[in-house]
Amino acid sequence: MIELSERLQSMEESATIAMSQKSRELRAQGKDVISLSLGEPDFHTPDFIKDAAKQGMDDNFTTYTPVPGYLDLREAISRKFKRDNNLDYSPDQIVVSTGAKQSIANTVLSIVNPGDDVVIPVPYWVSYKEIVRVAEGNVVTVSAGIETDFKITGAQLEAAITPKTKMMIFSTPCNPTGSVYSKEELRDLADVIVKYPNMVVICDEIYEHINFGSKHESLAQFEDVKNQVVTVNGVSKAWAMTGWRLGYIGANTEIAKACSKIQGQFTSGTCSITQRAVIAAMDADPSEVADMVKAFESRRSLVLDALSQIEGVKANVPGGAFYVFPDVSYFYGKEFDGQKIQDANDLAMYLLNEALVALVSGEAFGDPNCIRISYAASEETLTEAMRRLKVALEKLK
Ligand code: PMP
Ligand code: GLU
Repeated sequence: MIELSERLQSMEESATIAMSQKSRELRAQGKDVISLSLGEPDFHTPDFIKDAAKQGMDDNFTTYTPVPGYLDLREAISRKFKRDNNLDYSPDQIVVSTGAKQSIANTVLSIVNPGDDVVIPVPYWVSYKEIVRVAEGNVVTVSAGIETDFKITGAQLEAAITPKTKMMIFSTPCNPTGSVYSKEELRDLADVIVKYPNMVVICDEIYEHINFGSKHESLAQFEDVKNQVVTVNGVSKAWAMTGWRLGYIGANTEIAKACSKIQGQFTSGTCSITQRAVIAAMDADPSEVADMVKAFESRRSLVLDALSQIEGVKANVPGGAFYVFPDVSYFYGKEFDGQKIQDANDLAMYLLNEALVALVSGEAFGDPNCIRISYAASEETLTEAMRRLKVALEKLK
């Protein structure tokens, strides 16, 4: 019998992927499951991007690519950083990877030594914690509840910092809460970060364009901390390109080189055709996706309205991304038909079995009081899902 590594055995499976896999299986058995579990736009990649990919194939961009990505792609990303974020990253400070997930893994593996502390605000995106654990880092969580719109302050960050702190990882707009940090809130974090020059901060901005309120703000805009910040972004969400697999970082040259070195041993440069396609996306005006963002905004209202009509559910108003992360702890201790709900995991399973709606337990995001609803689905589907959720939740006594 083959014994798998301790590293693997102590790793948790991605809850978002596990739940979407489960709903796929139930569907294959003929069950009418609505999956609001995976954070994936239900739109198609815009045609002009597909056309650029086809052109790339016709032009025979079919061989290995430079490890950090084609130079003309990195130049296009550099222009994008300037245009959308007012950030100056030269092409040698940009590394293109097989999804933002790999960008984060490269960065963590480049910076974190076994036993180093990595501060992660809760709620966090599922993979941050497991990636840090693979690097044998020590996850230090800082809790931000629904009362503070799930955002941490500089003072909270500072209280979590120890002499072993090497990194912090967070997202804005945030997955799973949709919360968006304002410029002032980022400055408050930067005031602390600047005091710890050995600490690197991953600012994951993959939901940048899916923002319904104020302008998106990047942490790296503050020159005094820019050298410590790794700005992560990608095309999965904004350009509906989850299957194409491309993410990227802007970082100081040393970190960019380190990420490229790791990538050179693990995967090499990402898909050549994808890279040709993404050049077109980078040079396009973000208003190209305005219709998609508008659709997400009206779905957000639909979901929030429906939740407000269910007794016991508390939700914040997410400023971006396509998730709502309501507090559902009111239902813990209740039961229906012999099914007792002790926690968010039980509730997610109950809703899957009873309502045939797949959501993700807040536990996977570090907040056991909540559950994540991804509203990347049509209004018709969402209306039916919310109807089913209300019926099932109201049965719990
Ligand atoms: N960061 C966050 C916050 C995410 O939600 C996701 C999920 N797609 C990623 C990174 C990874 O994105 P991808 O690997 O598809 O670029
Ligand atoms: N990021 C998405 C989510 O949170 C996709 C799944 C994943 O990559 O984990 O659902």
